[in-house]
Amino acid sequence: MKNFGILSLFVALLLGFSTSCNDEEVNPTDTLVELTAEEKQDLLYMREEEKLARDVYDYMYAKYGLNVFKNIGKSEQKHMDKLLVIINKYNLQDPVALAPEAGQFGDEDLQTLYNSLIAKGDVSLEEALVVGATIEDVDIFDLDNAIEKTNNSDLLDAYDNLNCGSRNHMRAFNGQLENANITYEAQFITQVKLEEVLGSDREQCGQ
Ligand code: ZN
Ligand code: ZN
Repeated sequence: MKNFGILSLFVALLLGFSTSCNDEEVNPTDTLVELTAEEKQDLLYMREEEKLARDVYDYMYAKYGLNVFKNIGKSEQKHMDKLLVIINKYNLQDPVALAPEAGQFGDEDLQTLYNSLIAKGDVSLEEALVVGATIEDVDIFDLDNAIEKTNNSDLLDAYDNLNCGSRNHMRAFNGQLENANITYEAQFITQVKLEEVLGSDREQCGQ
């Protein structure tokens, strides 16, 4: 009887132990959907790409003093902020925290792109406006690709919002280029898509 009592206690302790282990396996952090490796990669890349846009426009505003660069630069900061919220929600390492200085990027391709865009925009204000249209062109292209590869609603909502902003930015830069009698031709998105964007009105992009 005495031995049975001790055995029961032992069994109860074991059960109690295994129950508490199970509880840990279904803890609340598991309710957050995991992003796929590809979704993470795209999100972190887009965060730095928005920084590239902001840094180039800040640079061009300092050089040429044209308001379109200042206004769109502010909008790019908001795009960066939106992506940071998602990066933090999914507990990812923010690449901008690792390379926060203007004109510095963790991603080598973005670093190369930044350097070449600055060199081009340094030539003249007209070239700087072409650089602006080029950034929006590549931004829409990359956002469209990222949208194709996810069905996560946090990502889709943010990408749709950024894409809406990019279309407006493209219209704004193209308007300035038209005033200078320069015709921008698509380099990343298709020419059909570019004409579709330029042929439609400025959009309200919401929050
Ligand atoms: Zn943007
Ligand atoms: Zn933009």
